[in-house]
Amino acid sequence: MQNEDSFTRRVSPLEMDSEEFRRLGYLLVDRIAGFLDSLPERGVTRGESPSDIRHALEAERTLPQHGADPGVLLDHAADLLFEHSLFNAHPRFWGYITSSPAPIGALGDLLAAAVNPNAGAWLLSPMASEIEAQTIRWIAEMVGYPTDCGGLFVSGGNMANFVCFLAARQAKAGWDVRVKGVENSRLRVYCSKETHTWIQKAADISGLGTDAIRWVPTDDELRMDVAALRRQIVSDMEAGDRPLLVVGTAGSVSTGAIDPLPEIAAICREFDVWFHVDGAYGGLAAVLPDAPDALVGLREADSLAVDPHKWLYAPLEAGCALVRHFDKLRDAFAYHPPYYHFGVEAINYFDLGPQNSRGFRALKVWLALQQVGREGYVRMISEDIRLAGEMFQRISGYPALEAFTHSLSITTFRYVPVDLDSGDEKVEAYLDQLNTELLTRLQAGGEAYVSNAVVRGRFALRACIVNFRTSLADVEALLPIVVRIGKEVDAELRPEALRSEAPQGVQ
Ligand SMILES: *Cc1c(COP(=O)(O)O)cnc(C)c1O
Repeated sequence: MQNEDSFTRRVSPLEMDSEEFRRLGYLLVDRIAGFLDSLPERGVTRGESPSDIRHALEAERTLPQHGADPGVLLDHAADLLFEHSLFNAHPRFWGYITSSPAPIGALGDLLAAAVNPNAGAWLLSPMASEIEAQTIRWIAEMVGYPTDCGGLFVSGGNMANFVCFLAARQAKAGWDVRVKGVENSRLRVYCSKETHTWIQKAADISGLGTDAIRWVPTDDELRMDVAALRRQIVSDMEAGDRPLLVVGTAGSVSTGAIDPLPEIAAICREFDVWFHVDGAYGGLAAVLPDAPDALVGLREADSLAVDPHKWLYAPLEAGCALVRHFDKLRDAFAYHPPYYHFGVEAINYFDLGPQNSRGFRALKVWLALQQVGREGYVRMISEDIRLAGEMFQRISGYPALEAFTHSLSITTFRYVPVDLDSGDEKVEAYLDQLNTELLTRLQAGGEAYVSNAVVRGRFALRACIVNFRTSLADVEALLPIVVRIGKEVDAELRPEALRSEAPQGVQ
């Protein structure tokens, strides 16, 4: 029912006048502030089922025909999310590798969304593009990578690794892969068995196929065995295969293991193979003055993936791909010559990656980097590592807990009833079952949150502290909780699971 005047001076249904925007914005910010304050008193999660959640959401509702009051909608959305989420901002959240988000990042995302620059093209986002370029330089500087590298923000570690993989493919294949494709190319990629699943997806979407992956064995500490890498490359070359790239992992997902990056770099130089480092998790720890040499070796990489939504504590999503030679990144994605603006080459980010229109992911990272500076990040990252170390140490004070590994900020361990001898295969199978159930209950209970790893074939509980809100008291609280749940689960499962065992002493 459009009358002529309202069309001439258009007032759209989505419009919100400045008065209302202010009022609703202040209310929402108040609610968020209260929510953040309340986290330590809440559970990490309520452990609800999918049907509980769908019920709370009224998931069966059909699309509304008419509009509704925005204040009511925002309040309702906040209620749903504050009451039915898993809170990675909780001080006792140590699952997977997901960080606690920096508050300044949340405000940055609001600002970015309000201005809404399209960071695909410089002309559409002059300041946003330059802030992204500056942030990329700062991240490179932070980890000791060349600051004139090519780089951009993407959605996360997977995408950052893909971008680097595609840069390697174009740079090292020896022909124009983007035009000719890779059919029957015999290109091979090398990585350890601990490598994250992005490598399979990258081999798949790049057209190489997952058979192109050579899985290099690891040593006792789950680091790539470089002698085995060398042998594999030599034997592949003798057979007529074409080694394309080697992936070194700077902080594996399971245990935080760091591949011997300087040795891998040397092998890549020797055979003229692209050296990529997956530093999605651990790469940013290269900022530490006492970072181990194995990690600092990422500075030699042809490309490097890091995840600001992990150890820079940016709210999701923020991954970052860095390629040593800017032109190699451009060559992998651009479809036209460089564009010059006022005589200075302007960066058009659609030329450096797979996306066309792009959001302003850099802002939240740029703000946090300045809020705390290098010094602040050195402190937070080293404290996370120290806390994981404290957890590892304290495990030895509990006879029913067995510590497995500690590297970077990941500690793995498991519950072993004091009267059971591990080692026996039947007992080991039971311990896997016991710890799996223990983890399920721990996760649903919400007192603290860890995830799992398989360490040398054994199911382990795994705490990964990428959380500037965690304190020593939180870490100390975890172990008695695990022991309590472990006892409960053992009492329930053991009679059935180890029925044929000779009678054992009670715990
Ligand atoms: C987290 C992680 C990834 C995947 O990153 P996303 O941000 O989840 O896409 C890849 N590799 C390593 C080593 C990681 O820690």
